[in-house]
Amino acid sequence: MQIYNTLSRKKETFVPMEPGKVKMYTCGPTVYHFAHIGNLRSYIMEDVLEKHFRYSGYDVTRVMNITDVGHLSSDGDTGEDKMLKGAKREQKSVMDIARFYTDAFFADCQALNIKRPDVVEPATNCIDDYIHIIQTLIEKGYAYRAGGNIYFDTAKLDQYYVFNDFDAEDLAVGVREGVEEDSNKRNKNDFVLWFTQSKFEDQALKWDSPWGVGYPGWHIECSGISMKYLGEGLDIHCGGIDNAFPHHTNEIAQSEAFLGHKWCNYWFHILHLNTSSGKMSKSKGEFLTVSLLKEKGYDPLVYRFFCLQSHYRKSLVFSWENLDNAAAAFHKLIARIAGLKEGGAVEEDAFAALKEKFLAALDNDLNTSMAVTVLYDVLKAGCSDATKLAAIASFDEVLGLDLIQKAAELRKKNASQSASSAGGYTVTGEGDPAIDALLLQRYEAKKARNFAEADRIRDELKAQGIEIADARDGVSWKRV
Ligand SMILES: [Zn+2]
Repeated sequence: MQIYNTLSRKKETFVPMEPGKVKMYTCGPTVYHFAHIGNLRSYIMEDVLEKHFRYSGYDVTRVMNITDVGHLSSDGDTGEDKMLKGAKREQKSVMDIARFYTDAFFADCQALNIKRPDVVEPATNCIDDYIHIIQTLIEKGYAYRAGGNIYFDTAKLDQYYVFNDFDAEDLAVGVREGVEEDSNKRNKNDFVLWFTQSKFEDQALKWDSPWGVGYPGWHIECSGISMKYLGEGLDIHCGGIDNAFPHHTNEIAQSEAFLGHKWCNYWFHILHLNTSSGKMSKSKGEFLTVSLLKEKGYDPLVYRFFCLQSHYRKSLVFSWENLDNAAAAFHKLIARIAGLKEGGAVEEDAFAALKEKFLAALDNDLNTSMAVTVLYDVLKAGCSDATKLAAIASFDEVLGLDLIQKAAELRKKNASQSASSAGGYTVTGEGDPAIDALLLQRYEAKKARNFAEADRIRDELKAQGIEIADARDGVSWKRV
């Protein structure tokens, strides 16, 4: 597979450290609020990447953290603690907030067919692991104590800005975020590994450490959790592009300083979801959540389809109109699949050729829009319907759009709406011609004022468990 690596700024052939195995890490959500659909775009694309690895025969182990401590409103360790902010907003404890929004996140994932990673670890579960790393960093001279907190010293690295060509001047974190700068830092982009001098006196989660009672900084959790479950080397690390700096930059700094060698080989970053007014955020404009999509009558998988239609390395513009277009295309696609005849033989050669095309699309830096195009190619192909259905079912293992299931539901719905009619009188039911015929007989009997016969037919149907409802110009029936 060819994949774009943010670290080298070019497409590379993906070669895992151990043949056949992929160690994959994903930055999880900070569980202080609902995820917006922009956040979820990243998780959808990471899910497709994971499923593509599995589909290609790799044995994948994927780990994700849940941030339930230490993440301040600025990624540069300043501003308000996000978890405390959530707790205050809802007058609940931090633990309750964490539990509620973790569940909400996985409910969203389920609605979007995002597989749960093999390991999901709340940050608060691994405090000892962070303490061990921080202690080692202090011993190695990469971390220092100032004002009670422990900071990572970015000046000790040969190269700190691994993802970009920024220099310290461009990245005046305190100025950029419009909040006060931390005067304890030796260098502007030094970051907190352990807080003891919290300005948040009501910080509920605190642990004992060699440097005093406190709590970990945000960045250390991903290094700690990744190494705990995936060891000293990582094949691929994923996240939204806004995590590249400072979060992922800091993860690399501390992990490699701790390990003394390279930590992660490939960095997979997903571009933003924008609205017409810019990057989507929780505080700006409409708060777009999966629940809101559902309230407005959209199938959440329409949003997944919308994301798959574009490449993960391009910004995607969300508007209701764009989503409507995706919905129309998605429902049309399902209707075409529902029109394929089930049963019959799968033509192996034709199936293999289609699969090769599908794999080629995704092997080219996860080109999902091309993979969706291959779905349409399947529908147009000259092979049997059974072959087409087999190919679509197979591709959907990666795409996760429930195509076969939705087509079956549509077929059933269409059948139940198939109606028989005679002389302006319509019978609507579950698609059983024998029942429809009896109801038409009953209509003829009533028209001929043969009420005894009409009642006999009604009773006969009742005995079969058929419930009928007369309307002005017809009748509908259902099995009860
Ligand atoms: Zn992370």
